[in-house]
Amino acid sequence: MLKKCPQLVLFSVLSLIPIGHAQDNDPDYATKIKEWTTRPEFMSPLVDHLPKSSTVPSPKDVLGYYIGEPKRLTYYADVLRYYRTLAEKSPRVKVIDIGKTEEGRESIMVFVGSEDSIKNLDTYKKNLARLADPRGLTDEQAKEIIANTKPIYTLSGGLHSAELGPPEMLMELAYRLATEDSPLIKKIRSEVVVAIMPVADPDGRDRSIDWYNRYLIDVTDDNAIFEGGVPYWGKYTKHDDNRDINYAGLANQNLLKWYLDWHPPIMHDLHESVWFLYTYSGQAPQNTLFDPILWGELPWFSNFEMAQLTKYGMPGVWTHGYVDGWSPGYVAIMSANHNGMMRMYEIMGNGGATTMHRFIPESKPELKGGSPGPGGDVTKRQWYRPNPPYKDVTWSMRNNTNYAETGVLTALQMTSAFPQTILENFYTKSKNSIHSGETQAPYAFIIPSDQEDMTRAAFVIKILRMQGIEVGRATSEIKLKDATYPAGSLVVKCNQPYGRLAKTLLGKQVDPDPELTTYDDSAWTMGLMTRTTITPITDAAVLMTAVEPVTEYTPPSKIDSQPTAVAYAIPDHGSPNMITLRYQLKDVNIKIAEAAFKSGNTSIPAGSFIVPASAANELKPAATQLGLDAVALTSQPTVATHNADLPRVAIFSTWGGTQDVGWVRYTFDQYRVPYDLIFKERVLKGDLHSDYDLILIPNQARNAKALVTDIPKGKIPLAYTKTDKFKFLGDYGSSDDITGGMGAQGVTELQRFTEQGGLLVTLGTSSFFPPDFGITPRIDSGTTTPRFYAPGPIVEAEITQPTNPIFYGYSNTTIPVRYANGPLFRMDPDQNKADVLMRFPGGDKAVLSGLMNGADEIKGRAAVVRTSVGKGEVVMFTTNPVWRWQNIGEFRMMFNTILNYKNLDIHTNHKVRTD
Ligand SMILES: [Zn+2]
Repeated sequence: MLKKCPQLVLFSVLSLIPIGHAQDNDPDYATKIKEWTTRPEFMSPLVDHLPKSSTVPSPKDVLGYYIGEPKRLTYYADVLRYYRTLAEKSPRVKVIDIGKTEEGRESIMVFVGSEDSIKNLDTYKKNLARLADPRGLTDEQAKEIIANTKPIYTLSGGLHSAELGPPEMLMELAYRLATEDSPLIKKIRSEVVVAIMPVADPDGRDRSIDWYNRYLIDVTDDNAIFEGGVPYWGKYTKHDDNRDINYAGLANQNLLKWYLDWHPPIMHDLHESVWFLYTYSGQAPQNTLFDPILWGELPWFSNFEMAQLTKYGMPGVWTHGYVDGWSPGYVAIMSANHNGMMRMYEIMGNGGATTMHRFIPESKPELKGGSPGPGGDVTKRQWYRPNPPYKDVTWSMRNNTNYAETGVLTALQMTSAFPQTILENFYTKSKNSIHSGETQAPYAFIIPSDQEDMTRAAFVIKILRMQGIEVGRATSEIKLKDATYPAGSLVVKCNQPYGRLAKTLLGKQVDPDPELTTYDDSAWTMGLMTRTTITPITDAAVLMTAVEPVTEYTPPSKIDSQPTAVAYAIPDHGSPNMITLRYQLKDVNIKIAEAAFKSGNTSIPAGSFIVPASAANELKPAATQLGLDAVALTSQPTVATHNADLPRVAIFSTWGGTQDVGWVRYTFDQYRVPYDLIFKERVLKGDLHSDYDLILIPNQARNAKALVTDIPKGKIPLAYTKTDKFKFLGDYGSSDDITGGMGAQGVTELQRFTEQGGLLVTLGTSSFFPPDFGITPRIDSGTTTPRFYAPGPIVEAEITQPTNPIFYGYSNTTIPVRYANGPLFRMDPDQNKADVLMRFPGGDKAVLSGLMNGADEIKGRAAVVRTSVGKGEVVMFTTNPVWRWQNIGEFRMMFNTILNYKNLDIHTNHKVRTD
């Protein structure tokens, strides 16, 4: 039924919509895209034509092909070339550079609007900034500003590089918006400024297109798809560039900087996954700190789109039932975080531009009540999916373009019908944010300045500032009802435009409905993630505290000057910067104190460095720059020490799971920890111990077997190599065939490495590997039950061997860690007692932030285990101490493992290693 009806609907709608036939259209365009659209109902009256302009170049004029042509994709340099040519020729288009990526590509923003709007961009920019920060603005003044401002509606595509369609569509959209004279487009052009980020991850786009052209271009059937995609998108991450809550990626940083400059009230990010078009409505669980207006705005738009596209006869447009409103960590959510609105589409794509036969092989079970989260049968009718997608369909790139462009034009139609409402809402949400900081506790957060390590506090302040949140430094002591804080403490008052974002980032995530799932991590509390004291203040008097604004925060560093010093102690208070200092002074004979001691009145904790005075000239500027102290010692301390020897480090990566490895690489690069990135190719060469002392296997596969088998061998080898034709492949590693995994031979080599004296370190799910493949024969792995559910909550962990070097810099025996769903170890309690270095107390009370269902299941389970294997040893983290540039409070456990790699068994019952 559904498959026949829509054409009739389409026919009747066509006669209702005036399409500006006065203008000359490109007849070839209409013919071609009709040919490439696989069914008539996959087309709409908004995109079935394209104007022909004698002055403004269409994508075809510049690129040589129409958007949506099968097997055609546009590399980033050509995308830039198109927009720059368009801006040169059309007074309705303007391009600005907004920064560079890791690989040196330029991020740009393209503005499209009426000539008048483009001329007035700076006025709108200034006005939007006033609405974004309405302090000192009366409602009357705001009304006047709103009357003289056009909303900026931002679109971005290609954040996920294998989702190749939207960046193509956006070029056609820009041209259409600049040239078409239909009443709809004229209205959009006159009422709205459209800002386009053509490719949100420019580096990944080129690599993905190379991969498509090399391997996927002739694949036309779901059945023929082989496993294994391009190993890298951007330099470090793949999908997680949309989980980059602390803006590690440069393209994301560029966009955030631009955002805070221009304050577009709406940001709309275009993705590809589910069939045919899902439009985000911000379903439960919702972060209740977002303004209630937002939850009305989101379905307002998505329902309009669903109704309009359905009216045009396009099946399979739905809302709700997919992504929730919980996490503030998606890229485009920067707009909702700053009192605007994030919008998002998932459009059906083929992972390329080849027309393919697609089908849903079996109906997956619908999630609880057909409610949230990905999964479920998208072809099933639901109240939010009244005209579901087909089960079996031939799908083309042009279908993808038609859906995305029609949807976006519909959203712009809505915006052009209510431009003042959009701006009023933006203004009101900004005002509400300030007001809620005055009326709803907490009124502020205080980061006390007397914390022993302020470098982690500095990380928090840097992120808050990057997000546009105002931070103040108290000019005198802060006296409140319940406590006093020293002068110099950092104060984040919530009565500011982004006060609610401060609450979101710094507060605890306490109320996700346990009946619901979360689309991503359920917790992100920055104080817990960074092990920084950040105190929510419930005394409204804090708002009166005198502060001076902090633009940049440099952590203090106290360096003794003492001509008779024989050595300097670098007190270890848990700064991750300790490892950077060690590597910066890599040729200096640094010792590590194994216990606390005193120098005069100064306490020097275990883990502190003892640096010979002869290195003072090198040490002092480095320590200052890293926010570390140097305490002069006039005699050598009597405390037990060991050498801070530096291991030769390799990070092992599968070819199929480079992303979590990428976060570790990013972190090591930031802290300047050198390493070799190795793949199965190096492991299979053998003799690993002659090149490496420590091999780190980051989290990367779902279990041990998947780590070993990686991408199963298919019909053809998949080379990831640089060639003249594919110059964007072969970065960050290369392989003549990425399939096949390390296999049994690889396991043997890793086992040999540890038996010969190497240190094998595994993180997260990679910690299934040593027990499951017999490298640690006396330890078994197990898993939680299916009812256990823990989407990245922050839980308490208890250090059971506090003197072990892995915990240098941790002054408490309980610490917050992000739960990573690693293995539950089963081990003989007597034999292995000394091996368990950290464990989970478990139970609901130990859940500090976020959601964990079944918290009793992890009661008493090991979180960090160290065990000897032959002459070497294995350290297994069931946590992931290097997670998404986020849990810097856990980084030290990883770094300590490196800095003390020969001494990880001191203070345990095991024999001391001699090699
Ligand atoms: Zn995506």
